[in-house]
Amino acid sequence: MLTAARFLFLVLRAALLLALDIISPPTCAACDAAVSRRRVFCPSCALTVVELEENGDHRGDELAARGAVRPPDPPRVIAFAAFGGAIAVALRRLKFTGRPDLGRPLGHLARSAVRSADLCADVVIPVPLHARRLAERGYNQAALIGRAVAAELRVPLAARALVRVRSTARQATLDRADRFENVREAFRVRDAAAVQGRRVALVDDVLTTGATMDACALALLDAGAVSVTAVVVARAGADDTDREPITDEPASAAHRAQAKA
Ligand SMILES: [Zn+2]
Repeated sequence: MLTAARFLFLVLRAALLLALDIISPPTCAACDAAVSRRRVFCPSCALTVVELEENGDHRGDELAARGAVRPPDPPRVIAFAAFGGAIAVALRRLKFTGRPDLGRPLGHLARSAVRSADLCADVVIPVPLHARRLAERGYNQAALIGRAVAAELRVPLAARALVRVRSTARQATLDRADRFENVREAFRVRDAAAVQGRRVALVDDVLTTGATMDACALALLDAGAVSVTAVVVARAGADDTDREPITDEPASAAHRAQAKA
């Protein structure tokens, strides 16, 4: 039954959306071409997006081993698309060009991946940035994406439950065990109450080597999480893992030069 209050709400919301379209018309997350509302990419950018089937492609079951100091079994991964094309462009713009507004449309993609994977979780926790990186960027892109995932799951977003206590050496040249060792001590659970006894959806923008996710998952399980499932907008294929397509590890020389320019 459509009550008067509900009707008024719907009318006001439609008017607000229309006003928003006029003030800031929706644009393609990769190229800024005009798009209709609810579209993340324009038709030509959308052609370059390779969506992953159903639950993405899992690397294993939900992580449940606790206390291991070697790399734990990789958590289940839910990814919307393969890293590349317009997805890669949009994620780079989100992270490196001061476009936190892109967190919403890209979060929408993670949200739809979670929906088709039928994920159940009790809390959403974004992969944290180091405080210095957060201060430079002004936002954590994983938290922006996590907000959409939390809305889909109707669970809280615990954006500060996990902290990155040190920045880590560049991962690209290390093998899996060394990459894990490199980030193992980098994460700490600050809010154990948000984690204990909970199924955690651990959100990041992109999964490359998986070492960061493994280290976060281990910290969460050590703090009492029941399970950890990784949720990302995009994941690099197995053959891409040696080139770190997009990373929050210390910037390359080229990147630093770009940042200074
Ligand atoms: Zn486009």
